[in-house]
Amino acid sequence: MSIAVPTSLDDALSRLAADPTAHVLAGGTDLMVEVNMGHRRPSAILAIDRVPELKGWHHDATAGTVTMGAALTYAEMADPSFARLLPALTEAARTVGSPQIRNAGTIGGNLGTASPAGDGLPVLSALDATVELASVRGRRTLSIHDYLVGVKRTAREPDELVVAVTVPVLDGWQGYAKVGVRNAMVISMVGACLATDRAARSVRLAMGAVGPTILRAPVAEAWLAGEVDWGGGGLDAATAREFGRQAAAAARPIDDHRSTADYRRHAIGVLAARLARRAFPNE
Ligand SMILES: Cc1cc2nc3c(=O)[nH]c(=O)nc-3n(C[C@H](O)[C@H](O)[C@H](O)COP(=O)(O)OP(=O)(O)OC[C@H]3O[C@@H](n4cnc5c(N)ncnc54)[C@H](O)[C@@H]3O)c2cc1C
Repeated sequence: MSIAVPTSLDDALSRLAADPTAHVLAGGTDLMVEVNMGHRRPSAILAIDRVPELKGWHHDATAGTVTMGAALTYAEMADPSFARLLPALTEAARTVGSPQIRNAGTIGGNLGTASPAGDGLPVLSALDATVELASVRGRRTLSIHDYLVGVKRTAREPDELVVAVTVPVLDGWQGYAKVGVRNAMVISMVGACLATDRAARSVRLAMGAVGPTILRAPVAEAWLAGEVDWGGGGLDAATAREFGRQAAAAARPIDDHRSTADYRRHAIGVLAARLARRAFPNE
């Protein structure tokens, strides 16, 4: 197995252009599991953890956006100044694996694997993130909804790297919740992000592990936005339950080794209702 360790983005992209079959390695927390289990036998690895252009994040206050480098780790998302802008992503990041996994695992790796159970992805979907891809041919930007095309399938071409992901900073409550067999070190049976936008008076709900990729619940979103007292009133239990019911109706879960479709549909409804109560609390 050949291993390349580029120290600039140009170098990384040239190497990927020369051998698009090379496996990109960021934190390795997904890829090395695949290699160790014998599911993948890469002949070439392109390690991107020393590419400075992929690191860190920045807030563009004028545009009202945060742009994250693909190599941003979950541990870095715990930074209080990041958490103030994107609390749902910090909350999702805190649920990922263990401290070791959060130190190594990256948002670019979550996007690269594109598992429907990836905890960062419902947040990116709820925020209508844009994903920036680069190759020696140039750069392009895709909506997260066009980037994720199926179970572990994305619109990325083999010679492209995910370089960054950009999300808007919304004025409104946002949060993430997941259900698994334990409270820690667990891949989601279901996960959900609810984000509210007071300026637009809109509600966004993105659901993980209840479909081939992350699903939004547009009917439930529009219904709740119409029910909410945007002046600051709380949500009653019956309205939250109805929101959960509508969210569950938008889910397309399957039975697999982690859960049954029936339980997933039930659990996503419960999570959606809980998130709605947290977003619009009754004092
Ligand atoms: C013990 C354990 C617990 C875990 N718990 C969770 C959890 O709770 N929630 C969760 O969501 N995930 C979990 N994971 C999975 C994993 O940590 C995440 O998916 C993580 O985001 C992967 O990031 P990485 O940098 O390690 O990716 P890598 O393993 O380096 O790469 C993953 C895939 O993405 C590709 N890739 C990486 N970076 C790029 C890029 N910039 N451009 C293009 N392709 C790229 C790689 O080629 C590979 O196919 C866990 C994994 C382990 C081993």
